[in-house]
Amino acid sequence: MRLLLVEDDRMIGESVQKGLRLDGFSVDWVQDGSSAELALETERYDCVLLDLGLPKKDGMDVLRGMRSVRNPAPVVVITARDAVPDRIKGLDAGADDYVVKPFDLDELAARVRAVVRRREGRAEPVIEYLELALNPATHEATYREQPLALSAREFAVLEALVSRPGAILSRAQLEERIYGWGEEIESNAVEVFIHSLRRKLGAEFIRTVRGAGYMVPKG
Ligand code: CA
Repeated sequence: MRLLLVEDDRMIGESVQKGLRLDGFSVDWVQDGSSAELALETERYDCVLLDLGLPKKDGMDVLRGMRSVRNPAPVVVITARDAVPDRIKGLDAGADDYVVKPFDLDELAARVRAVVRRREGRAEPVIEYLELALNPATHEATYREQPLALSAREFAVLEALVSRPGAILSRAQLEERIYGWGEEIESNAVEVFIHSLRRKLGAEFIRTVRGAGYMVPKG
């Protein structure tokens, strides 16, 4: 899952980015409202973590801007403004959830998973596809009722594919899901992950669509 973190406090930004990466998220971090808008124009995010008090452009304006161009990404507002009117304003402007500083990183990760789940219309925390089950919260995977050992990035590739059966994801789209900015990407990394997933799930599980990318067929 690819997240945009918008936070001007260096210490909080660094610790949230590091913590969520360890949790298997790919996290891009920007430190002001204008950079956030630029990032939102150029990348597709599964969720945005948005501070409200930001240089250049206020977080509330960033949020309103996202919703006015119908950017559907769920937004979790992170802020010290814990007064009730601010919370109401944030939710009314299109935020999906609200955490007040200081917050617990595990709780933040759980809230991100919950808003993404709701946005995708899944009430259940587990993604099921044919005989495969993936739990994004615990990174546990089972296939044919047997535990399936996956690295964090194999899990991310597989999650991206089985969340939308029938959709073709290009190599670049898969790279976006598993790497954040500034992380070095091996040129054939996606092929390597697909190859190892096929060894674990059978050659037919993930289809190659020549010249376009990869997909799993509709179940
Ligand atoms: Ca701030």
